[in-house]
Amino acid sequence: MRQLLIKLQIFAAIKTVVNYIIVGQGLAGSCLALAFEKEGKKVLVFDEPAKNRSSAIAAGLFNPIAGKGLAKTWMADTLFPFAQTFYQQAEAKLRARFFYPMPIYRPFISIEEQNEWMAKSEDNSLRPLIEKIHTSSAFGNLVQDGLGGILVRHAGYVDTLTFMGAVRTSLISTGSYLPRPFDYAKIKIETNKVYYEEVEAEGIIFCEGVGVKQNPFFSWVYINPLKGETLTVRLPHQLNQIFNRGIYLVPTAKPYTYIVGATYKPNDDTHHVTPEGKEELEEKLQALMNIPYVIEQQQWGFRPTVPDRRLTVGQHPVHKNLYLFNGMGTKGVTLAPYFAHVFAHWLEGAGKLPDEINIKRFKSLYSKF
Ligand SMILES: Cc1cc2nc3c(=O)[nH]c(=O)nc-3n(C[C@H](O)[C@H](O)[C@H](O)COP(=O)(O)OP(=O)(O)OC[C@H]3O[C@@H](n4cnc5c(N)ncnc54)[C@H](O)[C@@H]3O)c2cc1C
Repeated sequence: MRQLLIKLQIFAAIKTVVNYIIVGQGLAGSCLALAFEKEGKKVLVFDEPAKNRSSAIAAGLFNPIAGKGLAKTWMADTLFPFAQTFYQQAEAKLRARFFYPMPIYRPFISIEEQNEWMAKSEDNSLRPLIEKIHTSSAFGNLVQDGLGGILVRHAGYVDTLTFMGAVRTSLISTGSYLPRPFDYAKIKIETNKVYYEEVEAEGIIFCEGVGVKQNPFFSWVYINPLKGETLTVRLPHQLNQIFNRGIYLVPTAKPYTYIVGATYKPNDDTHHVTPEGKEELEEKLQALMNIPYVIEQQQWGFRPTVPDRRLTVGQHPVHKNLYLFNGMGTKGVTLAPYFAHVFAHWLEGAGKLPDEINIKRFKSLYSKF
């Protein structure tokens, strides 16, 4: 009888019905909101933009040849074309500019490396990604590249703040955005529905980045905060390419202004910039550039990383209408658009969630429930 009364109270209070509640509007939540909109689904997004310390800090770089071995990145042939179409369509829909394709130039530091890349450029899978291999200086007025360097195409950057701002404006215009903390204690779960205050939804999708550690339903997942610091610098030149050697020098939408990044400090859980971070970035910048710079700002953030470097997405083991969309790691710009599309399709019963990103792959954690 008491339970029936509680249910009646909930139903009486319902004022808004949506398909999904999304918690967090970083790159993950933004891409998911757009993917659902494309499917004709209604969402309600909770976010605290002022507390964002990942998507808002990111240089927004996308680079199909990266990592220690400088190989083609995971699923590059699928993810990069998808991301390009996604951001260009989003620009048209949201009437904003945030997608900046441009090559990345990486100077060689030895003849061996130059030779290695000459050989690699014959590789059929890499050839489409290489704009040009320079065997002598091509940008010597800007960077130290006496031995030439490799110019990588299908690269560039997304102005993440403008992208997320444009998504937010669009959500606000349809009454689909609440700029406030989501209170996990207010969730009421029924078999096929979930309730939050006066809102009824089919499910809640958590896109909180490292904030997932405060989520009582999903705090057990393997999301490790990986601290990174960046510098914002001013240069006397406007560059038309990204430079990379030890660090990335990425243009921003503001003229003559660049982001230098980033550090990787897995064991640093401090919430502030450090003198060591600045020193490391400056050292690498000076080893790369030939021109003077002025530091405008130093920033810090946490990437939501997973030990096997894949996303962590899927359904809660017990509460079937609670979902996770997280683990974008160091590559949110390219991972979020494609996997938001896959995830939204899967929720609608179309397609499969790939095993290598499904939260279920962590069997020892998942089976404890
Ligand atoms: C220094 C640095 C440089 C980077 N550079 C790049 C790069 O060049 N290219 C690239 O692809 N990636 C880069 N990354 C990684 C990229 O930023 C991440 O992959 C991506 O931002 C993760 O996005 P997210 O939406 O999962 O998380 P977040 O961006 O952290 O978004 C989560 C959001 O959820 C909100 N939230 C959490 N809990 C709650 C709650 N209870 N209620 C309401 N809101 C909540 C937070 O406030 C936040 O706004 C970089 C990261 C860092 C730190």
